[in-house]
Amino acid sequence: MKHLKNYINGAWVAGTSDPLVVHNPATGEIIASVPKISTEGVSAAVEDADRAFRLWSKETADTRSKYLRRLYELILENEQELATTITLEQGKPLKEALGEIRYGASFVAWYSEEAKRISGEIIPASDKNKRIMVLKQPIGVVAAITPWNFPFAMITRKIAPALAAGCTVIVKPASQTPISAIKIMELVEKAGFPKGVVNLVTGEASSIGKALLGNKKVKKITFTGSTEVGKELYRNSADHVKRISLELGGHAPFIVFDDGDLQESINGALSSKFRNCGQACISSNRFYVHENILPRFVKGLIHKLKSLRQGNGLTSDTDLGPLIDRKAYQKVEEHVSDALSKGAKLEYQGEAPKIDGDSKSGYYYPPTILSGIQPHMKIYSEETFGPVIPIMAFTEEGDVVSMANDSDYGLAAYLYTRDLSRGVRVSEALEYGIVGLNDGAPSAAQAPFGGFKESGIGREGGHFGIEPFLETKYISIGL
Ligand code: NAP
Repeated sequence: MKHLKNYINGAWVAGTSDPLVVHNPATGEIIASVPKISTEGVSAAVEDADRAFRLWSKETADTRSKYLRRLYELILENEQELATTITLEQGKPLKEALGEIRYGASFVAWYSEEAKRISGEIIPASDKNKRIMVLKQPIGVVAAITPWNFPFAMITRKIAPALAAGCTVIVKPASQTPISAIKIMELVEKAGFPKGVVNLVTGEASSIGKALLGNKKVKKITFTGSTEVGKELYRNSADHVKRISLELGGHAPFIVFDDGDLQESINGALSSKFRNCGQACISSNRFYVHENILPRFVKGLIHKLKSLRQGNGLTSDTDLGPLIDRKAYQKVEEHVSDALSKGAKLEYQGEAPKIDGDSKSGYYYPPTILSGIQPHMKIYSEETFGPVIPIMAFTEEGDVVSMANDSDYGLAAYLYTRDLSRGVRVSEALEYGIVGLNDGAPSAAQAPFGGFKESGIGREGGHFGIEPFLETKYISIGL
């Protein structure tokens, strides 16, 4: 077993004798250990990042841009190794892991350019002897807390805009998937970023969280993860009025009207549902299908699902990997059995390589389709995070929009229709930050990713994604 280290102030720092172990979810095997950092260790890392901020924030935009560009090139040069790391610790098929690396890299490329486009304004003053000059300045030390489902891209999506803005960062990755974060730090070191600009700490989430939130020198928290933890961080960031960005859970509706291209909607359903075995915040989670086409939609889906190969993501022909851990497996199982016990119909269930969730055999949950879903079932209102398609029939446009909006979440929604007026009308009525109109894969580095309601605060991506790392100041100049 490899004993990996934290990266703090440009140095690799070993942990105590009680490290965190990392498992391969496809086999249950232990693959590495990472340090459990102490509270004092976190405080020291904040001091280092704060010291580095004094210099990094003064660098020219062009210099910051060049470091990011170099990091981007290094990611692409090492994409196979990075993808294999994701598959080993997270379980997704290698081809998807490679997709995640390229998606994650696209943020580094985008923000290496955007670094050069942070500009202020001159506003006409009310007095002819005054000028008002508006500046955009980096906010300071940023703590980036990230989840296990996209262990590479969720980090680059945060650190690239932060670094471009002139902030320094401390990354705290998910405990299930810290190795991808360590690989990013290796490339950060290779790219030559000055010491203390990018730091990585691993260990006990609540004590690291407390140490970061309680430290006045941490000016901003950027978090991606569950709504439950996001709310806790939001509450606890009030004491120092820390800036906070939250990318939280989702419960995406997927609406199929009877005027659309059926095959296209089936392909969209597959791509939005089975990427990462359903473990994406924008995974479609509730399927509303017009009653006129429901039997054909289900038949077409089953046909496609029969050809999906589930197994170890390292095998080249794997389409679907395991779930991340036993808890995730049990949640999916619970949602399905709850729905069945309350009257849902099992339309299809594939055969998983091992379906007992045993820690030695991998947490494979088979692709499953349920119909007859009702509001009193857990699967109707909770994020399932697994390869399950729960279907409800509808007839009226107004009804389906109300049902789709009947959620505390508001991250992503999908609809399939060829009627342009309906497409625009329904897209505008959906209370979601991201709408895939005839598109099952809407994510892109230049687009503002984020949610309405309890799915979060702020946006990541594009020119929107750099603003949360900047403070606005104006200087009123008397002539
Ligand atoms: P999670 O349990 O909330 O954990 C996310 C991160 O927060 C991990 O690094 C975790 O550390 C850390 N954490 C947990 N408790 C903490 C605390 N008290 N203080 C500070 N940090 C704490 O979420 P997850 O299970 O990893 O990720 C899945 C969730 O993320 C889903 O709900 C999904 O929808 C959401 N997600 C949202 C987006 C988006 O862009 N909106 C993208 C991807 C995922 P440990 O691992 O050490 O516990």
